[in-house]
Amino acid sequence: MICVSLAARTAAQARAEIAEAAAAGADLVEIRGDWLENPSELAPLVAERLHPLLVTVRSSAEGGRWNGSEEDRLRLLEEACLAGADYVDLEWKRFQEFPRGHARLVLSHHDFDGIPKDLEAIAAAMAERRPDFVKLAICVERTADLLRCVRLQKTLGGRAVVVAMGEVGEPLRILSGRYGGAWTYASLRAGSETAPGQLPVGELVGLYGAKSIDRGTEVYAVLGRPVSHSRGPFLFNPAFRAIGRNARYVRVPWDDSASLRLLYAELELRGASVTIPHKERAAREVDEGTEGFGTVNTVIAEAGGFRGSNTDAPAVVEAVGECAGKSVLLLGAGGAARAAAWGLARAGARITIANRTIERARELADRLGGTVVPWARREEADAEIVVNATSIGMGSDESPMPPTYWRRSMRAVDLVYTPRDTRFLRDARAAGAATVEGTEIFLGQADLQFERFTGQKIPGALLREFRATLQ
Ligand code: NAP
Repeated sequence: MICVSLAARTAAQARAEIAEAAAAGADLVEIRGDWLENPSELAPLVAERLHPLLVTVRSSAEGGRWNGSEEDRLRLLEEACLAGADYVDLEWKRFQEFPRGHARLVLSHHDFDGIPKDLEAIAAAMAERRPDFVKLAICVERTADLLRCVRLQKTLGGRAVVVAMGEVGEPLRILSGRYGGAWTYASLRAGSETAPGQLPVGELVGLYGAKSIDRGTEVYAVLGRPVSHSRGPFLFNPAFRAIGRNARYVRVPWDDSASLRLLYAELELRGASVTIPHKERAAREVDEGTEGFGTVNTVIAEAGGFRGSNTDAPAVVEAVGECAGKSVLLLGAGGAARAAAWGLARAGARITIANRTIERARELADRLGGTVVPWARREEADAEIVVNATSIGMGSDESPMPPTYWRRSMRAVDLVYTPRDTRFLRDARAAGAATVEGTEIFLGQADLQFERFTGQKIPGALLREFRATLQ
């Protein structure tokens, strides 16, 4: 169930926003009496019975805007309940009995300073009062804190709403129904949040299909830090829908506070994409899968363990095209370069590596039997194909090669995909060389990953649509 929390300042604005929230898919709408400029408008508004309503007048001590007396606050809530509110939110630390009509009681606790040590004991003490629902809203900053909130939600079940506030809490906001939550809170639009980390109702419903998430929903994730920029949910969620699979793909910020094993156990992950900076860490934490020279970007849960693999490597080989016996100059020796080197070496390319830090280039060359050229002399290397696996050009207009370097006979392959048309590619194209965009490699590795998750390819029309959204 989705509860849209309104930030309306007047009853007229609230009326319009209740209609907008209902049209967007809200099952329940929270009216915040503490946000109203004239709180006495609350009860008459509730009496209009526009939609199932939850009424809240949050005191400033619990993160709200109410600075009036406690007596007035409780009177407003009582009037709203007697006017026909469906639910009423009361802070358990300030709990007092009053006539509530038919309103169901949501007993709440808010913590903006992080996760309290005695979180589970607080939840148990709240449950002892036998409310209809308990709500615990906690600001989380570490992956382990998110997992603790997920565990608590699963333990408390459908008479509870555990909210992990902040960016790290996003997976629980989306997957509340998967872990048994009574509902999840959403904002009406981006910018109208009443608590940190609320997602707009349109995104929850449209992108994540949150209304049909249930305990049978399979969970997939992209693990990284930072991860909020990942476009993966915009490709994988529509793809799951297109093949009729009850599965969702969410962004999970992964830090040192939780192991891969714990993430899989608590979130009940079926599979995950791994992104910067964790591809090498994931390779150490999986039970099986050393392909890609120790970099893993795909993890699948299997009976008895996790299998890691790397779809960057085959995607680079596919994008480069026929390369057996050809000379390849590989720029870079980081995670992407290692995967590319592994794939290209298996495809029979003759590889020369140039990297700013020459020791990393030597270490990689030793593993694949390639040669090394100092970074300052990279233009002298014999190359039919040049692969940029450095981060030069990412978000900038720089190229790792001078414009004068390029010849018609060459092929330029860029792994950088933001921007889509890099200076590296533009210079090569201007000299008549063939080019391959990083976007193609990104889409190729995602398609292979989806196949490893589901056994099916991403429908071509969706890939084309998604490609058009990348700049
Ligand atoms: P990484 O592990 O951090 O490696 C970065 C590489 O770039 C290293 O070789 C580093 O050299 C080099 N480098 C960075 N700044 C440099 C500079 N100013 N001058 C010279 N060399 C420099 O990153 P990664 O994971 O390999 O990713 C590299 C790029 O590939 C990123 O833009 C990423 O988005 C892209 N990528 C694309 C795909 C795709 O699907 N298209 C997949 C994976 C990655 P040192 O060793 O000297 O630090």
